Amino acid sequence: MSDAPDIYPPSQEFAARAHIGSMAEYEEMYARSVEDNEGFWREQAERIDWFEPFTTVKDVSYASDDVHIRWYTGGKTNACYNALDRHVDAGKGDKTAFIFEPDDPNTQEARHISYAEALRETKTMACVLTNHGVKKGDRVTIYMPMIPEAAYAMLACARIGAVFSVIFGGFSPEAIAGRIRDADSDFVITADQGRRGGKTIALKANVDAALQKTDADGPTVRHVLVVKNTGGNIQWHESRDVWLHDATPEAQTTEASGGCPCAHMDAEDPLFILYTSGSTGTPKGVVHTTGGYCVYTSMTHEYVFDLHEDDVFWCTADVGWITGHSYIVFGPLINGCTQVFFEGIPTFPDAGRFWDVVDKHGVTIFYTAPTAIRALMAQGDALVTRASRASLRLLGTVGEPINPEAWRWYHETVGDGRCPIVDTWWQTETGGIMLTPLPGAVPQKPGSATLPFFGIQPQVLEAASGEVLDGPTEGILVIADSWPSQARTVYGNHERFVNTYFTAYEGKYFTGDGCRRDEDGYYWITGRVDDVINVSGHRMGTAEVESALVLHEAVAEAAVVGIPHDIKGQSIYAYVSLGEGYTPNEDLRAELRQHVRTVIGPIATPEFLQFAIAGLPKTRSGKIMRRILRKIATNEHDALGDTSTLADAEVVDKLITGRR
Ligand code: ATP
Ligand code: MG
Repeated sequence: MSDAPDIYPPSQEFAARAHIGSMAEYEEMYARSVEDNEGFWREQAERIDWFEPFTTVKDVSYASDDVHIRWYTGGKTNACYNALDRHVDAGKGDKTAFIFEPDDPNTQEARHISYAEALRETKTMACVLTNHGVKKGDRVTIYMPMIPEAAYAMLACARIGAVFSVIFGGFSPEAIAGRIRDADSDFVITADQGRRGGKTIALKANVDAALQKTDADGPTVRHVLVVKNTGGNIQWHESRDVWLHDATPEAQTTEASGGCPCAHMDAEDPLFILYTSGSTGTPKGVVHTTGGYCVYTSMTHEYVFDLHEDDVFWCTADVGWITGHSYIVFGPLINGCTQVFFEGIPTFPDAGRFWDVVDKHGVTIFYTAPTAIRALMAQGDALVTRASRASLRLLGTVGEPINPEAWRWYHETVGDGRCPIVDTWWQTETGGIMLTPLPGAVPQKPGSATLPFFGIQPQVLEAASGEVLDGPTEGILVIADSWPSQARTVYGNHERFVNTYFTAYEGKYFTGDGCRRDEDGYYWITGRVDDVINVSGHRMGTAEVESALVLHEAVAEAAVVGIPHDIKGQSIYAYVSLGEGYTPNEDLRAELRQHVRTVIGPIATPEFLQFAIAGLPKTRSGKIMRRILRKIATNEHDALGDTSTLADAEVVDKLITGRR
């Protein structure tokens, strides 16, 4: 692929229809957004409906002895009202909100759900909650499969002002119990079972097991509301458990008599708590509030995905992650858009599923993660090309740095060279997309998240001194000023919030990521700050070395970490998983080390290279957990740290056995 271009300008056709159709337009609006930041965000606030106007746009301090972040104070609004009611009130009730695509296309039917139906179901659930004593400010834990009821549960909480905490349906009883305790939650919403890749997931049983743990010091959870999904066998706790369908008639009576209207929430009332994925340490209960979150997620969803009325949007994330919160539930619904809501996984019934669903529902905008792209790329092109993908016009990625090789495959093979790619960098803590190309304006470079979104002020700092670096450079990525969807605190632990994000560099939001800025001002995320490797004084991002490895045809996925080295300071330890049809052997090991040497230079040659036969350790959201790989590489496997967010613990055991 040496003749592949380094830069991909938007096509004229795409630009002509785009909201932001040229670099000049982007630059002008961006300049305005930082020069008159408050004026800009005052105007943008009009994209949502307010019950009462706000009095102050922005009240923010990043000073480490007084960190507070407030937007639109005095304003009253409701996230559910903006996502559902107002569209129905405006006569758009018949528009499809969700196209539900089930796990197994051979035995289950896809289903269109209108905004009116979504509102009806949400209202019912809201009334069930109030009938069972859930009040504004209470924390409700949601542990659901990817069925529309998961979204209704979140929206129902938002409607009545309860603070929801969604736990990904793949987490263990241990992880659920920890999060219920941390959030001090006394109400759980779940389903009997979930479906994923043809398997059933014992959700209710996991909740039962979790509550056994939390009940050890006296019961804390009053009720478990259960959605009947598969109809499979479950255990029942008479006084505690409530079937949604049993509670529905009473809820409908409540609703008919005017119950469960949208609570008038202060802009700064908490909307949800969400635990980070745990790539670097113990998960933190990040708190997001109402007004600014709605404004920012809907705005980014419209501009980054260049949303038009007739688009069919599909974000493949689970609602258990921030991506699902912001770009399945809130952003898209607030924008009144039609989207695919997918219960399944990319490899079931086979690895062509994504592209089949794209054809089946005429998906125009597709948003997924590098882990999925790399996995599907390793399966070969035939599964992609058997689908036409003719409806696609824009592709997106989020979650990790995307290797240029995977970017190009996504662009050429999935998008037939026709669709721009938005590589979106953001975090649970940022609530919405921060760095991204605007697809009709910003030429894309494979592997770069390119430029800041409106109102976002990234800076690159010199790690040791904290000095702000100008021009092309490399260092620590920080954000100099607030934006409306920024996390406000860590639940119950503001000190941890301050210490994690505002003490590393006084007056700046510390992202924890390293980055490079090139001669065009484009940002390239090089990896977590902890993952930056220093070999004989040469600083290297893990992303760079991994991308070099993935460039080799035999490599499906790679992860590298730095380990201590007597002379060089650090040396590189690489883990490699191979593509279909390749077997690990000494020749290949030598070839791969030589390959990195050729691509980057001798300094980047991995000292050790281990084949990860069973794959790499990942969080349940699909991110490579380098902190665990570092421990394995340095033979400290009795000190792996928090492993509760690990998707598959066996992978770790296999790596320990196969250590170089
Ligand atoms: P924890 O904070 O608990 O360690 P986490 O950082 O993995 O977990 P998330 O908030 O889901 O939790 O992930 C945000 C991180 O993901 C970013 O800080 C960055 O490292 C990485 N990331 C997300 N999108 C991109 C992207 N487009 N390019 C590069 N890195 C990305
Ligand atoms: Mg993080």
